[in-house]
Amino acid sequence: MPQQREYRQKSRVLSRQTLALIDQLGLSASPVNFSVLYAYFEKSDESLVTAIDILRSNKRDFDDLQCHELYQRYFQQPRKQEIIETLSTDLRNQIDQVLDQFSKDGTLAHLAGVKNALNAVLSTTIYQDDADDHLEDRLDEASSEVSKLRDDLEKMKHEALTDGLTGIANRKAFDERLRNAAMAAMENGQEMSMLLVDVDFFKKINDRFGHQAGDQVIRLLANTLTQSVKGRDITARYGGEEFAVILPDTKLEDAESLAENIRHTVEALDVISENRSEVIGKITVSVGVACYQLGEPLARMIERADQALYLAKSSGRNLVMTENDLLASFTKSAAKA
Ligand code: GH3
Ligand code: MG
Ligand code: MG
Repeated sequence: MPQQREYRQKSRVLSRQTLALIDQLGLSASPVNFSVLYAYFEKSDESLVTAIDILRSNKRDFDDLQCHELYQRYFQQPRKQEIIETLSTDLRNQIDQVLDQFSKDGTLAHLAGVKNALNAVLSTTIYQDDADDHLEDRLDEASSEVSKLRDDLEKMKHEALTDGLTGIANRKAFDERLRNAAMAAMENGQEMSMLLVDVDFFKKINDRFGHQAGDQVIRLLANTLTQSVKGRDITARYGGEEFAVILPDTKLEDAESLAENIRHTVEALDVISENRSEVIGKITVSVGVACYQLGEPLARMIERADQALYLAKSSGRNLVMTENDLLASFTKSAAKA
């Protein structure tokens, strides 16, 4: 990254110049003084440079207090246009992100209209190139439009992270929440586990009772899982009839007993189809459990949960298997060979 290296070198030179001037002027080496004089050497703001040059050439007192005033003026009250520019760039970025999400999901292409609407607001209302006199009025006019757009954006973000059929977190949200939970686990040194829950012989339910009944079973499972977990635990629809549960601050053994609870709860349900009042009867799930090893790639933990789920399936279904069982089954099959 030659650009980064260049930036680092430049910032060292500027820091040295700044400290030398602080020394020369007999100022304290405070963050405020440093920021002001660093900006002076960096020439990031022409009017700040002019102000300091004038103060110095007039041999006026250039003390800590003077520096503090400059700081307040140039750093704490950035001019309106700068605020607006930051705001609008921020909004545009947010919109781009949300639209990106939607275009990846292949839905809601018409929401590009929101982007056009916002661009219209920003360019006609804020970027008019006349004097600043009416800026405040125009900002007021724009602000209600902008806050409405923000609300729309929030809704769109929520939709982008929610599974349409069940209303719980979707795969995308799962990935994001898992990353956050792993980061938190690393920060506080706590254990984190996850479950992968898959309905047994789900195809048969679809085949015998129809797709709608299948959908009903998926919704029922989402509810059952959500009710089986507490507080910070996160339930997500991972795929068709497969769910994932993130369990922060949870050891493998505790995750395993929660998985057993879930398995029992599901087994105890008697399902009746909503549309035809037919008895669907018993459903069962298989569960794979894995525990995060601090620092490992998350894909590796998911892979272990997936393998444990596969082992539960191949061992007869309606079972919970953990990553420890993987090891045991591997040793057993190696001994047989
Ligand atoms: P196993 O015990 O090995 O998991 O068998 P299975 O039949 O559950 O597994 P398989 O993965 O072969 O089949 C899953 C089926 O779930 C296939 C697909 O048609 C169905 N499916 C996926 N998404 C949905 C959905 O949103 N609604 C409905 N009704 N069915 C779905
Ligand atoms: Mg299945
Ligand atoms: Mg499946």
